[in-house]
Amino acid sequence: MIVTDPRAWADAEGYLRRAQSILAITHVSPDGDAIGSLLGFTHAMRSLGKLVTPACQDQPHPRFDYLKGVHDIRQSGEGEFDLIVSLDSSDLARLGSVFIPAQHSRLPVVVFDHHITNLNFGLVNVVEPGVSSTSEIIYTLLRRMDVTINPDIANALLTGVITDTLAFRTSNTTPDTLAVAMALMRCGGNLQEVTRQALIMRSFDSLRLLGAGLMNAKVEGRLAYATLPRKLRKELDVKEERGDAGLVGTLITAYEVDVAVVFVELQNGDIEIGLRAQPGFDVSQVALELGGGGHPAAAGCTLPGPMRDAVNRVLPRLKQVIREA
Ligand code: 5GP
Ligand code: MN
Repeated sequence: MIVTDPRAWADAEGYLRRAQSILAITHVSPDGDAIGSLLGFTHAMRSLGKLVTPACQDQPHPRFDYLKGVHDIRQSGEGEFDLIVSLDSSDLARLGSVFIPAQHSRLPVVVFDHHITNLNFGLVNVVEPGVSSTSEIIYTLLRRMDVTINPDIANALLTGVITDTLAFRTSNTTPDTLAVAMALMRCGGNLQEVTRQALIMRSFDSLRLLGAGLMNAKVEGRLAYATLPRKLRKELDVKEERGDAGLVGTLITAYEVDVAVVFVELQNGDIEIGLRAQPGFDVSQVALELGGGGHPAAAGCTLPGPMRDAVNRVLPRLKQVIREA
């Protein structure tokens, strides 16, 4: 496990030890690492006698229903707290409406994250871009703090490790990642069940949306792109409102492609943009420039609509990334 800033780790531990009531927040549209690190942290700090309120602006996807405590995650940040902990978020805006500036700005914020684009928006920033997942960082934190990792904590953290590494297949998988996964299995984590529920199983609707998106995808040079307009969701009668159904992750598996992008039209007309890159290409900086963030190989941002404007803005910039790599 890489430790970028030993002082930040020590300061974070100090704040956690002294805290009595913690508001733990993860990012909007939460993925497996967001939910996993949030719940793993929550269970662990409660075992140390802290009051912890886990919060996220958006409700977790039902695929995470197997995780203990997932239904206790609140969609509001109201309450009395003495510490805020941010998990898996690279900037304050990504915490969404559960961060209430009028109430929370006077409180210390401790950030745990692994995005290279993190803006260090906390009072203390534990940011480890070399680590697979925020869940892997939280595992290290719990070991430092001598927390006993029970099966609920293990399954939560394993969920983050498995989803952010696509089951140990991505370039952010290190020997440490495997060692952490092994330790979590020994603590009662169920690798096969977590992989099946968090990563493999999906709705038939999302398969149909993926299929339609693939049929409409284009390749220009070594850039693949596709759009998922609301109209398409409506035509297919897809009930799931969010996400790209795995489309960008599928496009980047083509031999012909170095960079892939998918544009998802949201209910409010904004366009959610998912980016992927082959090793040797970096899409994190484009995402950062456009107000988002992420990793060199996987990043994202949200732009105002209409679709055509977002597409015209992003495609030339990605072609430049490919040219200049
Ligand atoms: P995905 O395409 O799986 O939604 O996201 C890929 C990566 O980009 C994840 O690490 C995610 O946290 C990051 N990401 C996606 N959208 C945004 C965004 O709007 N803002 C920020 N800061 N990061 C994003
Ligand atoms: Mn993550």
